[in-house]
Amino acid sequence: MNTPTTLVWFRQDLRLSDNPALSAAAQLGHKVLPFYIHEEGVGRPRGAASSWWLHHSLSSLSKDLSETYGTGLSIAKGKAADLIPQICQQLGITHVFWNRQYDEAGIRRDTDLKSRLKDQGISVESFNGSLLHEPWEVLTQTGQPFKVFTPFWNTLRSKSLRPLLPRPKNLRLKTLDPSMPIDHLGLLPTIPWDTGMRDTWKIGETTAHKALNHFLESGIHGYKESRNRPDLDCTSRLSPFLHVGELSPVQVWHQAARAAEHGEAPVTDVNHFLSELAWREFSYGLLFTHPDLHWVPLRPEFENFPTRDSAPDLVRWQQGQTGYPIVDAGMRQLWTTGWMHNRVRMIVASFLIKDLLLPWQQGEAWFWDTLVDADPANNAASWQWVAGCGADAAPYFRIFNPILQGEKFDPKGDYVRTWIPELKNVPTTHIHKPWTHPHPPKNYPLPMIDHKVARTRALDAYKQMRDAFP
Ligand code: FAD
Repeated sequence: MNTPTTLVWFRQDLRLSDNPALSAAAQLGHKVLPFYIHEEGVGRPRGAASSWWLHHSLSSLSKDLSETYGTGLSIAKGKAADLIPQICQQLGITHVFWNRQYDEAGIRRDTDLKSRLKDQGISVESFNGSLLHEPWEVLTQTGQPFKVFTPFWNTLRSKSLRPLLPRPKNLRLKTLDPSMPIDHLGLLPTIPWDTGMRDTWKIGETTAHKALNHFLESGIHGYKESRNRPDLDCTSRLSPFLHVGELSPVQVWHQAARAAEHGEAPVTDVNHFLSELAWREFSYGLLFTHPDLHWVPLRPEFENFPTRDSAPDLVRWQQGQTGYPIVDAGMRQLWTTGWMHNRVRMIVASFLIKDLLLPWQQGEAWFWDTLVDADPANNAASWQWVAGCGADAAPYFRIFNPILQGEKFDPKGDYVRTWIPELKNVPTTHIHKPWTHPHPPKNYPLPMIDHKVARTRALDAYKQMRDAFP
């Protein structure tokens, strides 16, 4: 008789350790078919930079599987709801396991697939592999989702976290024949705009752990204060690894907490770091309850905010040609590396939304395409936060001054000089307002708008919205 087989469907959990679906399959003692499906037409299409990351992450996972268990990842292209039942029938698969996703299209697809497989007599189980706690587990005392972060954080941190799951030993793997080569998924760019990303990142589960260890040994010291300094660059840079699941938040949490317990990292800094991880959970809770998070403002009055429409302004922002150095440095860091420092993400988002008065959705869409960590929950929730229309959001009238933000968080201009070579020789006193220098660089643009004028215009627009919807 054939050994029963469990299909483990990898999605945003591209790792072997602390992977609940894979661990559960290993415990059954069956053969395991590690499977990835490149789906098109289900949910929002991935952006270009996160597709690039995904390509390398899949390659890394397949290599890890081969080196550890002798066989790589099986890959197919198509609709999971059709493919998985077919494969189960062809290969006599008895169990299908996966870790959950929280976007609406994914939930709908998984629910449908689950019932189809059950009708076929197949055991199906799903697990939590991407979050510390499920969105439906962290609720207010009246059982509602939190709308304010601090009580959410207090509730989340009081819950006990599941233990870590080790990488399964001695798995016997099965493969799909034929399996599609990763190169055929079309995840890489056809023109080579990814040089900067290739120079910046090493991708995969092993690298993710190295990045976490390195951060806990160095960056975490002083994190609470220095996390706002793009020039010091001492945040963890774990976001793309977490996004694709090369690392689980449970691993990050346990390891950071252990470092604090053993006196290897300052408790205040670790707590602050864990609270940032909790923002990720908060955002996933919002995505779960508001599936249109990337498009529809959580505060309905913002649907009628009087924005402008200007393709040329949008392009100047995207290309880092606004004339405000901290904004342009951020946008160029994003374009080159696929990542941007959090403080600078807030500054550039504020500039697009308030100084340029463009719809926040246009900025969200550009980040979606260009960030390697582009995430359906974090990106949408963060844009709404800056726009003032999200949950526990920054008030709209808090408008960042790009000159003062630059002077405060990049005091010597090192970050700006790294990303804007045109400003290399501008002295520090003028670096965040180069047009005030007696000899401003000729190859760098003047500010595309006077911040004071823009601020007044934004506040007027806000008043107009408030007057229409008191
Ligand atoms: P660290 O400071 O080391 O934080 C550790 C982890 O906590 C991060 O990797 C991330 O998973 C989580 N985290 C930190 N800050 C936040 C936050 N404000 N909200 C939610 N989670 C957070 N983050 C994404 O992962 N994907 C996105 O697409 C994304 N888009 C954003 C868009 C805007 C406009 C803004 C203002 C923020 C966005 N963020 C996004 C949140 C944040 O900027 C990044 O998570 C962070 O910069 C990643 O760097 P890090 O890993 O070094 O962070």
